[in-house]
Amino acid sequence: MITFKNVTKAYPDGTVAVKQLNMTIEAGECFVLIGPSGCGKTTTMKMVNRLIEPSEGSVSIQQKNIADVNIDHLRWNIGYVLQQIALFPTMTVAENIAVVPELKKWSKRAIDERIDQLLTLIGLAPAQFRHRYPRELSGGQQQRVGVARALAADPDILLMDEPFSALDPISREQLQDDIKRLQQSIRKTILFVTHDMEEALKLGDRLCIMKDGNVVQVGTPAQLQKEP
Ligand code: ADP
Ligand code: ADP
Repeated sequence: MITFKNVTKAYPDGTVAVKQLNMTIEAGECFVLIGPSGCGKTTTMKMVNRLIEPSEGSVSIQQKNIADVNIDHLRWNIGYVLQQIALFPTMTVAENIAVVPELKKWSKRAIDERIDQLLTLIGLAPAQFRHRYPRELSGGQQQRVGVARALAADPDILLMDEPFSALDPISREQLQDDIKRLQQSIRKTILFVTHDMEEALKLGDRLCIMKDGNVVQVGTPAQLQKEP
């Protein structure tokens, strides 16, 4: 469970990106932040893994203020998938996925098993893909590996910032379907940022509509689609 309590973020130039935000993201739900460019979605997301610190208020995970948590431990528990595919180009698929488990000093055997398990889960045959380099993958395949890497050390939370928007429409739709299916089996707490309403309605258990740093409405797809 992630709780934002009276969270405001003002950047040094005076831009107030997020204003007095109060909300709770329940464990195991896919919570989608949606709204036009510049409304504060990414700022909100980055306050969860402390890439950005709030100017006022607090963010808690399981009731614990994350300002008081060791930052490495915090980040090991939070997978992060970005729009720009950010695999390490000089590392193979397997090496990319192994980064955080190695930091956490998992045994080689546990890491190997985890890599095969994750590749299978995201639809890439391990024997075929394990030893490839990112440049030998399509955009959609790279983004699948990005998801596997984010899940590698079995984090409780997954942050996804427009993860599919750089992909062609067909790959995007496949990835959406696969993430939806994956979420039904692994049930992470997902915070997902998009400006695509169709994607938000498809993936979100709840949607949070933002505008100018404020929350306009929070609700399930059914609640939001009901005529007023
Ligand atoms: P979104 O993800 O919804 O596009 P952002 O959270 O990226 O929105 O940005 C919210 C607002 O904060 C925008 O007005 C943006 O220009 C501003 N902003 C983002 N990052 C910075 C920064 N480092 N310095 C100043 N203003 C910023
Ligand atoms: P990013 O791609 O966000 O710039 P990295 O490439 O360094 O970050 O990290 C790759 C993956 O490892 C990301 O999914 C990130 O969430 C995860 N990670 C979590 N904690 C750490 C950490 N302490 N050091 C490196 N990676 C981490």
